[in-house]
Amino acid sequence: MQTGPKPVRGNLLISHTHWDHIHGLPFFAPLFVPGNEWAVYAPRGFSQSVRQTLAGQMQHTYFPVELEQLGAAISYHDLTEGVFTLGDIKVSTQYLNHPALTLGYRLEADGVTVVYACDHEPHSRSLAYGAGDVGGQDERHAEFVAGADLLIHDAQYRAAEYEGKIGWGHSTIEYVIAIAQLAGVKSVALTHHDPMRDDDTIDQEVEAIRANLKARGAALDVFGAAEGLVLELEAHPGREPRRQIDEPPAEAAVSSRLSELVVLMGIVDSTLADLLWQTLHADGVRVLRATDSAAALRLAQTDEPSLIILDRYLRGVDSLETCRAIRAGSVGKGKDAPIVIVAAQEDVAAGITASVTDWLVRPFSTIYARTRMRAWLLRTACHWVQASHPKDEKERLAALHRLAVLDTEPEERFDKLTRIAAALFDVPIALVSMVDENRQWFKSAYGTSVCEGPRDASFCAHAILAPTVMIVPDALLDPRFADNPVVINEPRVRFYAGCPLVVDGRCIGTLCLIDTRPRDLNATAVRLLEDLAELVLQELQRTTALERAQAD
Ligand SMILES: [Zn+2]
Ligand SMILES: [Zn+2]
Repeated sequence: MQTGPKPVRGNLLISHTHWDHIHGLPFFAPLFVPGNEWAVYAPRGFSQSVRQTLAGQMQHTYFPVELEQLGAAISYHDLTEGVFTLGDIKVSTQYLNHPALTLGYRLEADGVTVVYACDHEPHSRSLAYGAGDVGGQDERHAEFVAGADLLIHDAQYRAAEYEGKIGWGHSTIEYVIAIAQLAGVKSVALTHHDPMRDDDTIDQEVEAIRANLKARGAALDVFGAAEGLVLELEAHPGREPRRQIDEPPAEAAVSSRLSELVVLMGIVDSTLADLLWQTLHADGVRVLRATDSAAALRLAQTDEPSLIILDRYLRGVDSLETCRAIRAGSVGKGKDAPIVIVAAQEDVAAGITASVTDWLVRPFSTIYARTRMRAWLLRTACHWVQASHPKDEKERLAALHRLAVLDTEPEERFDKLTRIAAALFDVPIALVSMVDENRQWFKSAYGTSVCEGPRDASFCAHAILAPTVMIVPDALLDPRFADNPVVINEPRVRFYAGCPLVVDGRCIGTLCLIDTRPRDLNATAVRLLEDLAELVLQELQRTTALERAQAD
């Protein structure tokens, strides 16, 4: 703050909101300075937002300054698994294995990859002891850190200490080294050191590990992270990142519909089943219970659970067989739902062939099990459906660009029409919306100060797929839109009606109506909307005609 440029702008990526990870926040001076701008990213909670959680530790009882009194402009971003960007940095998130919803962050820019993975426990117990093959969720973790130039990883324990720390949500150094080597990581910063160790002990351990790696001829560089350590990584412009997969947007699934989620549970031990039922029920999740494999299979097919959790054996039947049968089924969401097997011992190889998603190895605490279930539910809570591109996308964009209307100033002749539309249909928002390559841009926006938005969250992007009026009476009841950020967050769209604007035979955008209440349009109203859209089109084409005349 003393020497750098002002105002200070930055992003804070928080893995989870356990106190050892957020206690510094109230004392972080740049948050106090008016003019500074910060964006805070953290995993969304199951029942409250990041903002609410962070505000909790700064209530007056605990701290003299409340979150809302901080001087800087701070935005809060609730994340699940997926991808988002910070400037030209691509940030991917993935759930870690910890008794709180925790995200790892993978940052890629300038051909360099840095991964932060704290707090995290091996999924497989044998891997925690440094033995066994990497498979299942640990393999997924390895893929997440693949090719990192720098991996900053939880390494709280040594394998010899792990026995008494199972389910605490932390890694052993042995596990970190195994994963890093498998994943082709270049250098590892061991961190989240056990508070019972002093610096000298950590130094000695790191030296021993380095010597061991050297003796084995391993290229991996390992060091202990220390407070105040600054690392600079050399840019490799043009170098492709090792991990290239399609990821959904990480900020997407702030779903209001978690309460409609269904978990199918086949757990023999009634005490454990009751405990899991209680935690899920408290989260508002509906739980179906099956006591035998036939019932589990039937419920998986009829009730479309979002998560299936089964004991390895139900009345003598191996649940891996049930899992196979569910996967082979032809109906319902259950076919693709994550299936978690509860067992005294995991059988990763057999699990993979049966398409088991994850193992929950006994014994485990209910908090631990609940977090795992929450992570699976949030991970699978349906994301909104992004509109596909129309078949004539190229020609459509060409027609739009020929109009030369994008990024022009607002004009009264269009504003007049959206004003009339809003009054005529009694809606708070009416837009002349153009669907550009990656965005929708509003030539006229009545009732909102927003002038553009991302195409992937755009209702209009759906409306332009057909040349007829598209009506969404209640977005919350429509699986295409129920999780859409403009439905869940401001402006909380419930009703949408969009009439495509067709230029040279191509749908380039819409005249659309938006309401925050569910409603419908009758046939007369639809015709009126089409009439108004016709007037918008005439104005749009008048501009082009005029410009063409001037060009001539
Ligand atoms: Zn933690
Ligand atoms: Zn921690």
